[in-house]
Amino acid sequence: MLNIFKKTLLLFFVLLYFSSCSKRASKISESPDVPGGAATSVSNDAPGDASVGAADADREAFIEDFWRWSFGDAGLPEELSRKVADSAAQGPDFIMDLLAVLETDSSLYKLVDKTHALSNGYAPSDLVELTGGSYRITRRDLMLRKAAASSLEEMAAAAKADGVTLTVGSSYRSQQYQVEVYNRNVREMGQEAADRESAKPGYSQHQTGLVVDFSPIDDSFADTAAGKWVLAHAGRFGWSISFPDGYEKATGYRWESWHYRYVGKELVYFIDTHFGGIQQYALQFIEAWIASSGE
Ligand SMILES: [Zn+2]
Repeated sequence: MLNIFKKTLLLFFVLLYFSSCSKRASKISESPDVPGGAATSVSNDAPGDASVGAADADREAFIEDFWRWSFGDAGLPEELSRKVADSAAQGPDFIMDLLAVLETDSSLYKLVDKTHALSNGYAPSDLVELTGGSYRITRRDLMLRKAAASSLEEMAAAAKADGVTLTVGSSYRSQQYQVEVYNRNVREMGQEAADRESAKPGYSQHQTGLVVDFSPIDDSFADTAAGKWVLAHAGRFGWSISFPDGYEKATGYRWESWHYRYVGKELVYFIDTHFGGIQQYALQFIEAWIASSGE
């Protein structure tokens, strides 16, 4: 963990240096009293010019390095990695946002997808039972981790104030339970369809204890008042849609309008600001970032 912070802080100072260079440079070139201000484009020996050029060239090189360093293994679409690397090189905002995420509970940003499993038999230690406060439940045995449960209650209360009732249909699933769900799906629909619908045991976000499926757990949810409300407001409470419409290639799952993961407000901000709202991409980036820190 220490290495990630060292690496992130180092990058932070490098970026501060670049942004102070380019600020100084643009001040010089804007000031009419300084030679090389208005005349920058013709005068080659103007002091402002040299420093702009050097800072730009350094920044270009830095973006290139940063891109290879942190995105090489992230498996992001190339256009997106370049966009993110570029925004990271503009100044310290990206790094500050990343640091804020890395300071949260590491299970919030843990990548769990078709190729990244939880440790075998993982079970969270702070599960609490969902009793239904401001929201409804469809069954008695629903559980979430404590932070997710209290955030869910807060979100549901806000929805209620807007006249919308949220109903939870599924939440924490143990590895053993996922074995049963997966095997049943394989039996009923065959391996290929089962893999689109459900995760292999150990590979389900539900096993983190940070995920809810709102009810009804089917495509009709998107058009319900609850579906629309959650899509618009869940981020404010630290919840993020895991499998958005049109990203099956990236996430491995078809669109699931009902499946939300609690990732915390810091990570929602990071996802929305730098990764176009796609949770999968931000988690892939963080995974690669941590891996390249030699953890
Ligand atoms: Zn789900």
